[in-house]
Amino acid sequence: MNLDGVIEGLAKQNEPVMQEGDYIKDDLLICGKCNTPKECLVEILGTVRKFGCLCKCQSERYKNEQAKLRQREAFERINRLRTQGIQDRSFRDWTFENDDGSNPQLTDKARRYCEKWDEMYQDNIGLLLWGNVGTGKTYFAACIANYLIDRGIPVLMTNFIRLTNALMKLDEDKNTYIQSLNNYKLLIIDDLGAERQNEYMLEQVYNIIDSRYKSKQPLIITTNLSLSEIKNPVDIKYSRIYSRILEMCVAIKCEGADRRKKTFIAKIEKAKKLFD
Ligand SMILES: [Zn+2]
Repeated sequence: MNLDGVIEGLAKQNEPVMQEGDYIKDDLLICGKCNTPKECLVEILGTVRKFGCLCKCQSERYKNEQAKLRQREAFERINRLRTQGIQDRSFRDWTFENDDGSNPQLTDKARRYCEKWDEMYQDNIGLLLWGNVGTGKTYFAACIANYLIDRGIPVLMTNFIRLTNALMKLDEDKNTYIQSLNNYKLLIIDDLGAERQNEYMLEQVYNIIDSRYKSKQPLIITTNLSLSEIKNPVDIKYSRIYSRILEMCVAIKCEGADRRKKTFIAKIEKAKKLFD
């Protein structure tokens, strides 16, 4: 191999383009804008050769382009995480920024969970958000999901109806699917108790919860069930599911005005004015 020729070729490829205003100083091409060299001397195999290099302004432009590219890549990654992780589109806008402040205590708790996420994850601490319909349980679970996704953390927010439907479509290898849920650092399952409660479904629900438990990663559950219903289920079939959940999650009672009712009333009031 003619190494000398290879190096010569490289130097040729690297030859700088002379632009208006550029000039020669000490036999090197100098940028007319920033007055720094566009060429440098390099000694290779005992011969000093001239190679093209970036002058100051070119190098700054290059750095800026790279930073923009990285920014765009990060933005696209987060978009992907959000589309994959938050299956219900409307939840993607449920953020702390869009919170109407109607449940400050819950806002505070959800925020603290996010701010302490590293510890929460380390110690495998989840949440059980329980309480009446419309108190913002799902809203705040979605806030947590969006907050963490914004920081590049993979979160899956789904519900048991969706999960068990997906499992039913699989002939075999249900385990692989259940295991794949553990690729998410946080799993949020909305509306526990709303799923059809036959034996098969309950078995799958247990498998999902149990697999999460074994993965030692946090789980957030929202439910309209009361804490006493979860602690003392009437039907023994639920006990092993609920007791696992209670082991993994800190129970937080969600109280307050019905958000959905409030939005509905506001809509009606607006409509009334329209017809006055
Ligand atoms: Zn320059």
